[in-house]
Amino acid sequence: MFQLAVIGNPIEHSLSPQIHARFAESLGLCVNYQKLLAPLDQFESTARQFLASAQGANVTVPFKQQAFDLCDQLTPEAKLAGAVNTLWQQNDLLFGDNTDGKGLIKALDQAGFSLRGKKVVLIGAGGAARGALGPLLAEAPSELCLVNRTQSKAKALSDDFAEFSEGTRLHACSITDLSGEFDLVINASSSSLSGAPLELPANFSAKQAMDMMYSKASGETAFTRQMQALGAQTSDGLLMLINQAALSFERWCGKAPKLDQIDFSFLRGDH
Ligand code: NDP
Repeated sequence: MFQLAVIGNPIEHSLSPQIHARFAESLGLCVNYQKLLAPLDQFESTARQFLASAQGANVTVPFKQQAFDLCDQLTPEAKLAGAVNTLWQQNDLLFGDNTDGKGLIKALDQAGFSLRGKKVVLIGAGGAARGALGPLLAEAPSELCLVNRTQSKAKALSDDFAEFSEGTRLHACSITDLSGEFDLVINASSSSLSGAPLELPANFSAKQAMDMMYSKASGETAFTRQMQALGAQTSDGLLMLINQAALSFERWCGKAPKLDQIDFSFLRGDH
């Protein structure tokens, strides 16, 4: 039996146990994946105690940075992201990976979107944007424009990743300076939590738009609705969530879930 968990605060809303249960079922593996609520000042003790007798744990808000700081060994993705969402212990050493960025790329790929040579906008400069940047640049878009409510953070992110941007015009700009048509806009900010649209300039549009936030009920968020009105094809973050989970599962259990053979429609609707 694989013992797994997701550690966060709050954690009640997490869909991860249901997603991992489907992975295990589809592969004929025996997995117990639980939700662990860590008190805000006790992430380290909660994680270490669980991992002493478990195969691995996911880490979610607000502990990804703390998880990064605790690790003895990090994957290149975790190092670049400065955050860890996947933990496991081996020979008394704590290992950390970040599967969010690769999960995003896989989700875009499954939605039929190729990034190579494309003009892309990334909104947000928090943990999710930082985790996405390395994997996005590795796909060689022609332009990657970083936009954030607090502009100085987008500029800092652009500076931090300049050395990985060969072949891509990586730059930060203000939301009001966005102009013309982009191939893809990704919302890696929490703006949709408020239900309010972003203040986008009138001459901005995009062919495709993805909100990392997901909506259980309809698959639509404030951002996807806003971009649909501008003519974009849209998706929420559910496919990204499933893909980052699959990468963690493979890391711990040694088998990759075959996502095209699993029906995830149960994740939509009230439950
Ligand atoms: P952080 O708290 O680290 O960053 C939040 C970001 O959102 C900041 O850039 C912040 O800007 C911006 N922001 C917050 N409120 C608003 C607003 N009202 N208008 C415009 N910008 C705003 O969060 P994360 O980066 O960890 O997560 C961001 C989103 O991505 C969340 O919705 C999360 O659920 C989602 N996510 C989805 C995943 C998936 O698998 N689908 C995986 C990881 C994250 P400022 O710097 O100005 O404060």
